Amino acid sequence: MSKPKMTFVERLYLPEISKGLALTARHFAVNMFYHTLASLGLAKRSQAMVTIAYPEVRRPYPLIARSRHRLTKHEDGSVKCVACMMCATACPAECIFIEAEEHPDPAIEKRPRHFDIDISKCVFCGFCVEACPEDAIRMDTGEFHLAYFDRKGLIYDKNFLMNEDPYGKR
Ligand code: SF4
Ligand code: SF4
Repeated sequence: MSKPKMTFVERLYLPEISKGLALTARHFAVNMFYHTLASLGLAKRSQAMVTIAYPEVRRPYPLIARSRHRLTKHEDGSVKCVACMMCATACPAECIFIEAEEHPDPAIEKRPRHFDIDISKCVFCGFCVEACPEDAIRMDTGEFHLAYFDRKGLIYDKNFLMNEDPYGKR
């Protein structure tokens, strides 16, 4: 497929940069106008856009979001995962790290000693869920952090992935 060609004006870049700056300036002016009215006690129904202080302040995820990874459990609470590595193999972002250990039940070969997902690399494709032969990993609703103050805070381990309420909010 041939690449779409840029026009001469687009190749100059300056007109496009000017358009971008004009758009930003317009938003700034409109927001400032509404903020000023609000601070004077006027136009309370017209809200200016507000920048939230992320990550200290977080908007709740939409109810339809299915992006929280979970490791499913048996009725006795043990992990269903058999550490077959299918999900890690299918993951295009290479962000699943599994260390297997022997399962105490001789009928089951393995279970994960460690099961980590580096969510900062995840592209939320769902391939891990598709690849799992045990229905042991799912993506569904629920809260998790997509930004943190250090990288380690974005690696979700087995305990987090098996916990229904990892932030203790219920
Ligand atoms: S959703 Fe995709 S990128 Fe994220 S862990 Fe699963 S397979 Fe990897
Ligand atoms: S979550 Fe599923 S695919 Fe991934 S290692 Fe466990 S059993 Fe295998």
